[in-house]
Amino acid sequence: MQSLWNEQEASRFAAQGELGLRVYSSQLLGREPDLVLHGGGNTSVKGTLANVFGEREDVLYVKGSGWDLQTIAAGGFPPVRLQYLKRLASLPALSDTDMMRELRLALLNPSAPTPSVEAILHALVPLRYVDHTHADAVVAISNSPNGEATLREIYGDEVLILPYIMPGFILAQQVHAATRHVDWTRLKGIVLLHHGIITFDDDCRRSYERMIELVSLAEDYLKARTADMPGIDPVGASPAGDPGASSVGASPAGDPGASSVGASPAGDSAPDAENLPFRQLATLRRQASAMMGVAVLARWDRRAQARQFSALPDVGELIARGPLTPDHSIHTKPFGAVFAEDPLPGLEQFRSDYQAYFERHAKPLHTCLDPMPRFGVWLNRGMLALAPDCKRLQIVSDIVEHTTRAIQWGERLGGWSTLPKQDQFDLEYWELEQAKLKSSQARPEFAGRVVLVTGAASGIGRACADAFLAQGAAVVALDLNPEVETLWQSPQVLGIACDVTREELVREALHRAVGHFGGVDVLLSNAGSFPPSRRIEAMDEAGWSQSLELNLTAHLRLLRDCTPFLQAGIEPSVIFIGSKNVPAPGPGAAAYSVAKAGLAQLARVAALELGGSGVRVNTLHPNAVFDTGIWSDEVLQQRAAHYGMSVQEYKKHNVLGRPVRSSDVAAAAVALASSAFACTTGAQLPVDGGNERVI
Ligand SMILES: [Zn+2]
Repeated sequence: MQSLWNEQEASRFAAQGELGLRVYSSQLLGREPDLVLHGGGNTSVKGTLANVFGEREDVLYVKGSGWDLQTIAAGGFPPVRLQYLKRLASLPALSDTDMMRELRLALLNPSAPTPSVEAILHALVPLRYVDHTHADAVVAISNSPNGEATLREIYGDEVLILPYIMPGFILAQQVHAATRHVDWTRLKGIVLLHHGIITFDDDCRRSYERMIELVSLAEDYLKARTADMPGIDPVGASPAGDPGASSVGASPAGDPGASSVGASPAGDSAPDAENLPFRQLATLRRQASAMMGVAVLARWDRRAQARQFSALPDVGELIARGPLTPDHSIHTKPFGAVFAEDPLPGLEQFRSDYQAYFERHAKPLHTCLDPMPRFGVWLNRGMLALAPDCKRLQIVSDIVEHTTRAIQWGERLGGWSTLPKQDQFDLEYWELEQAKLKSSQARPEFAGRVVLVTGAASGIGRACADAFLAQGAAVVALDLNPEVETLWQSPQVLGIACDVTREELVREALHRAVGHFGGVDVLLSNAGSFPPSRRIEAMDEAGWSQSLELNLTAHLRLLRDCTPFLQAGIEPSVIFIGSKNVPAPGPGAAAYSVAKAGLAQLARVAALELGGSGVRVNTLHPNAVFDTGIWSDEVLQQRAAHYGMSVQEYKKHNVLGRPVRSSDVAAAAVALASSAFACTTGAQLPVDGGNERVI
């Protein structure tokens, strides 16, 4: 592992004040997923702060909960009274609830975020900077039969190695007792077995680089023993890319997962056989949602490394042993499910295994959490992650990726061996950890649901994608314009460049969508274009056919291929973007109006055919939505002139006298897909400000 320290960058941060360098090196740690994964680490710096009386007090600025090291800013380090923390450490006992209350009481700024549960530990280290990570390499070595001895061999007596203990007050007490007579100037760091590693120094850079140095020693040890292992990321190199999106998507043809996985019956590459695992995944996700009681997302990592892991003869037993570090279990539960070719029975098996695990370890006050697995191995097909929203799906996917790699290292070191299940349980059910999962905000209506939007890079499509994102949906954004792949840069969006008139590309995109989020619940079929105006006597057949192909047939194909996924979807619904030209056509627009009229009729037939399986199909008829690509200034001026109006008059030329924006169409689309319209199918709804010819 390399130090990322850059003197120029560092001096820019240093200029920002007392916390500047602390922010800088925390971000450096956060940039390295092998050190900290989704909140798995914390840092602090000691300083002084003047109170309102002008007296300076010693403070500990420690990472606040809810902040991620990679993106932390000065506001993410609440100032806590240092002496108060040290006094707390000397108490014989302190309950978790009391500790959290005391941490807030010790704040010098009552509106600051709650200090990390490891704040007291940070206070006990007498050096200015303290860095704490859950480094994969260090933790993985401790999860092997001779882990402790191995770490002693690697670090000698310059690093204190402490047995596992629950984080929080008792961990602080343990460190307090173990370091009472220690010579801090000789100590390079502290390893917390099965948990992580701590480094410290009065100098920010030295503390950070000590972390890199110590973790590198563990990595070198692993490298020497695992270099010959095929198909595992080399030690020190983070697993590449994102399972669903980038690697699979960037080059569909070159992705080993895309082609071979589908063909489960050997040699059979017929579309049905290729489709089967994706349909199974969508059904699995719906069942899992029922198990958790809310819509959940699923991700199938079908890259070569995941598939190789899933083909190990003892893989089911390996993932049952336990997580990389116990605090992962709040996201992943302490063990995963095993899914066979038909994955559904694996879900039920997990439910009973989880309930049995709960009964074995629970204390009287505990209530069993939902029994839905958060990850599982799909034998010979790869790894699955399940979670109730996009953010957590990303967390689970990342943890699973790091864990499967560490399990294989651990196997090489003599056998993956984690903490006893009781310790895993205690952390999973620790109130402070569970509190992290709870959000004070209400769950948005579309959280856990997947919306596929075509023509998503601009105009109505983009507005719809944004509106569904704002309601918590996972959005699959398709567009001819390749910029769609980078437009949002959010775990909530999978952008796919796709020509919807090309059948094979649409199918490929659908597989990517289902692999990435687990299904399709809402299809917003929008992609279309307005061909140049032509009267019938001048109609060219090529233009006519192109319009029918894009504005009608492409929608049919997409609906056809989406149908199996919609039928396995959660509150599934289809929305076609029609046009005012359906009820009120205009001269010169035959190619467009006829295609859109066909689309409206397709929607009605689809409503009849799909209603039995709960899929609603409705059409929106927007008119004159001026902030879309179709309405260039030139077109606007032409149309306005055609009606003898100014552009401003023309924009508001409707019954309500108000311009219609793409966000108005998007709001209607979200409403139509929502439970407010649960009893509506086969409807055609105008979004046109009121049109006299239609009313
Ligand atoms: Zn920790």
